[in-house]
Amino acid sequence: MGTVTKINRDDIVNGKAGKRPGKPKGGVFHNDYGAMTPQQYVAWLIARRKEGRLGLGFAPYYINSSAILRADNTGNKAWHTANNEGNIWYLGYEVVQSYYGIISDKEFILNEDMTLRQMAEDFHFYGLKPNKETIRLHSEFSATSCPHRSWDLHGKSTNALKSYLITKVTRYMSLGKTVEEMLKKEGVSAPVVPVSNTVTPQPDGKTVKVGKQAKQWETGSNIPTFVIDQVYDVLASKPVTKSRSKKAYLIGKGKVATGWLLEQDVDGFKTAGGGNTNKATPTTKPAITGTTTETQSIAGVQMFLNRWFYGGLTVDNLAGSATNKALIKALQMELNSQFNAGLKVDGLWGAKTKNACITVREGANGNLTRLIQAVLICKGYDVKGFDSKFGDGLDKAVKQFQSDKGLTVDGLVGKGTFEALFK
Ligand SMILES: [Zn+2]
Repeated sequence: MGTVTKINRDDIVNGKAGKRPGKPKGGVFHNDYGAMTPQQYVAWLIARRKEGRLGLGFAPYYINSSAILRADNTGNKAWHTANNEGNIWYLGYEVVQSYYGIISDKEFILNEDMTLRQMAEDFHFYGLKPNKETIRLHSEFSATSCPHRSWDLHGKSTNALKSYLITKVTRYMSLGKTVEEMLKKEGVSAPVVPVSNTVTPQPDGKTVKVGKQAKQWETGSNIPTFVIDQVYDVLASKPVTKSRSKKAYLIGKGKVATGWLLEQDVDGFKTAGGGNTNKATPTTKPAITGTTTETQSIAGVQMFLNRWFYGGLTVDNLAGSATNKALIKALQMELNSQFNAGLKVDGLWGAKTKNACITVREGANGNLTRLIQAVLICKGYDVKGFDSKFGDGLDKAVKQFQSDKGLTVDGLVGKGTFEALFK
């Protein structure tokens, strides 16, 4: 282990969700369902704040084994659980790079451990004891598969995972009051370096196209198929020695990184034994990135459904019957939680689901709008943002869809339009 960087940037969120009315009741454990490091989350959060999109969700902490980003003062509320009790009374901890294929399970557990050391530090600070009431999972507050990877690794049940987390936090609390003290007691040579600013990757003006047989840098596992043939910005590059490639590229869309790519997997850099053709590097911008649940693409919709609605989908950027079923399930869950519709969540379209639908129109903002955007994205319409806001772009897409289907063209998504969209 090298150094551990504490990135204290309370100025990023700066109390946007308001002050907590008292001492926190505990902490909520999250997995980010993404690929970014805490350093990369800095730029991502700043962009999200500038675009007025923090309401889509943020946590005060983003942590991996070598960096701890604190993006807001822990005395403030945070929009991290889609639930008032969770957002007001609990601190939020995102273990980052949890998306499968980015890092190995072993590396991911090191990310979890650093997150739990920070939780232990905060529990000392607020005088909290680790138990089932104070250490909570995101899935205890709303319909989500978060924390998906920790769930898979530590027993696949709420009780088993919470017992594991409680044991770890209890141990870390016994070692010291701060992350620094705990690491020292553990004999880990990892001095903690606090920084109040950090260098974020900048696109260097070059783009690369991913070839046919891309593998993750270091893990050797296949990278998700939806990045195949896509063009990405090069954010940074570094020399590597572990493979026949001499170089790896940090690829992303704009400043949002999606991961490291080996040179051997880049189209246009043919290497001996490589499976890639040697075409000129295209200059078009990428249509898809695999980093966030907000990307306007079928892959983005699939990640969104997996994260918030137990989608369980393979992220393949293809709109098939499994994705369609997951969309209907998400709609049923949302109608149940917002309007007590009492629907069976079975992913099957029927009269009961149709009758439970309300009318959604321009000016709306929330998960129903997000699901309308999702289904239109899957049908190939440009909704101008996958952001839960029913604006002009979505209004135009709805009207185009209604026109294509021979429905009344009014931009109102009522029972008939819902049926045409989801059935
Ligand atoms: Zn979560």
